[in-house]
Amino acid sequence: MEQFVRPTIVVSKCLEFEHCRYDGSMIGDLFVRKLKNYVDFIPLCPEMEIGLPSPRQALRIIEQGEGEELIFSQTGESLTAPMEVYAKKKMNELKSSHVDGFILKSRSPSCGMKDVKVYKTYGKSSSLPRKTKGFFGKAVTQEFGQLAIEDEGRLLNYEIREHFCTRIYTHAAFQELKKTPNMGELVRFHSQHKYLFMAYHPNHLNSLGKIVANHQKNSIPDVYAAYEEAMNKLLATAPNTMRMINVMLHLFGYFSKDLNVKEKAYFLDAMEQYRNHQIPQSTVMAILRAWVIRFEQDYLMDQKIFTPYPLELVEVRDSGKGI
Ligand code: SF4
Repeated sequence: MEQFVRPTIVVSKCLEFEHCRYDGSMIGDLFVRKLKNYVDFIPLCPEMEIGLPSPRQALRIIEQGEGEELIFSQTGESLTAPMEVYAKKKMNELKSSHVDGFILKSRSPSCGMKDVKVYKTYGKSSSLPRKTKGFFGKAVTQEFGQLAIEDEGRLLNYEIREHFCTRIYTHAAFQELKKTPNMGELVRFHSQHKYLFMAYHPNHLNSLGKIVANHQKNSIPDVYAAYEEAMNKLLATAPNTMRMINVMLHLFGYFSKDLNVKEKAYFLDAMEQYRNHQIPQSTVMAILRAWVIRFEQDYLMDQKIFTPYPLELVEVRDSGKGI
């Protein structure tokens, strides 16, 4: 059975961990619940960590000149200063530990990473047309923009979940590699990720190849640092369908001469269904993976594109909202 390095994920505590919302509730989230067996979570509730109780008055963000304030919705009392101090301190703490990604509560004036309502003032007033980031969510996106940061709403989409899981497991694997850096292991890592990275971005894959080739004879720490930076850049954008299909065809090329007409037609049908977003990428990959085993294609056996994260996390439940 394939072994994976367990990623460390910071999560908004009200998602499956504690009844810490303003109304004393907790939010059930199937994906977070499932992940509990596969990642190490760091649950945080910024509002409770600045000393607020649960239940409490709801918070909101209001416009204040050029800037924004975090306030109690009913009384208008400002919580901007304590939240900014807390967020800064927490970012420094997290930077000195190991984090592979974040799952934040959507639309929260504290945790939200986008789509947070902005109001003119406290009390009864309707929200303005523009949206913003929550105060803690903003600090996270500023300090950890190179990592996978999602909210639980977006993770209802299976393509976003696949991308998120791929990023956190790839990042965690590289952090493990960094503990005992040597060029041989980096070459192995790069080779195992060849087709996965090709699906993300073929040009970035070439840049990574040049870093690994190290014709400039840079030091190993410098090579690792350059590789990590380029890899994070590559993983920042989800692979588009056409790039993924291109890689699927590359992989199909390893076996096509050994397949009969019906098998080939079955595969091409499946790829068409993937192109039309009727089935997930993992379904097509499962067909290819079966052929890797059947035809004993040793080079492909270790390719991470087949299992970039534990199979148990593959789930096709979907919100129907695209990336
Ligand atoms: S959204 Fe963030 S601040 Fe609000 S209850 Fe959840 S964890 Fe706490």
